[in-house]
Amino acid sequence: MSDCIFCKIVEGAIPSSKVFENENVLAFRDIAPAAPVHILIIPKRHLSTMNDAGPEDAALLGELLLTAQKLAAQEGIAESGYRLINNCNSDGGQTAYHLHVHLLGGRPLGALVE
Ligand code: C5P
Repeated sequence: MSDCIFCKIVEGAIPSSKVFENENVLAFRDIAPAAPVHILIIPKRHLSTMNDAGPEDAALLGELLLTAQKLAAQEGIAESGYRLINNCNSDGGQTAYHLHVHLLGGRPLGALVE
């Protein structure tokens, strides 16, 4: 089995608070939420970082964003607003090396970067 923690979540070997799943994408609540709504949207297929996505992944990347949009509506934060973040590699603050998009909302989020 892969050492990747998010692959283990996809496989069900590590539990998660799942909010959406289809054949390509999984979304679950972040275990250390930084906002009232904090959901991670990931591809089921392992891609370590945004740098590993290619033109063949265009539809998958679109699906991640459209899933985030749908979940924002489902969580009731579409109108108040939300933020989508992808952290890439160390300067980007990435800690989990399986591509993911953070959906954050439910409070004013303030400045974009520290
Ligand atoms: O973008 P970054 O790689 O820093 O984000 C990883 C996120 O994965 C963190 O917000 C962390 O809380 C979350 N996480 C999780 N469940 C795990 C391990 C990490 O929700 N089992």
